[in-house]
Amino acid sequence: MTDYNWCHGPECHTQETQSRVRGSGDNKVLRTIKIRVNSHNQYGNSIFDYFCNTRCLYDYLREHAQAISAIAPRREALETPIKVVKEKQQCEGSSYNHETREYTSYPYTTTKTTISRVDNG
Ligand SMILES: [Zn+2]
Repeated sequence: MTDYNWCHGPECHTQETQSRVRGSGDNKVLRTIKIRVNSHNQYGNSIFDYFCNTRCLYDYLREHAQAISAIAPRREALETPIKVVKEKQQCEGSSYNHETREYTSYPYTTTKTTISRVDNG
């Protein structure tokens, strides 16, 4: 396993930052960022082992979206069984009267919606 990856961003080497400048004198270049593997996530396997920043990640995804989605095509929608529970809740609001400079509380009812997963084994 290699300790470093070159950033996979197709435009990485065109971003004008000091961290990309290499070379000396009149022979300077902007170079693709070299990423130390596992430097972003102590548990390993971070997407940022392959990309130096989110711009490079999205440039790559934009350029290769068709090829990437062909790796594991989604040909139909997936569904997660759920239960939707709606419950009335009594709440208390308050309004401020600028003339009396007092707060008045008033009750109101709201609907709390809870989505829970149904375990179908
Ligand atoms: Zn990059």
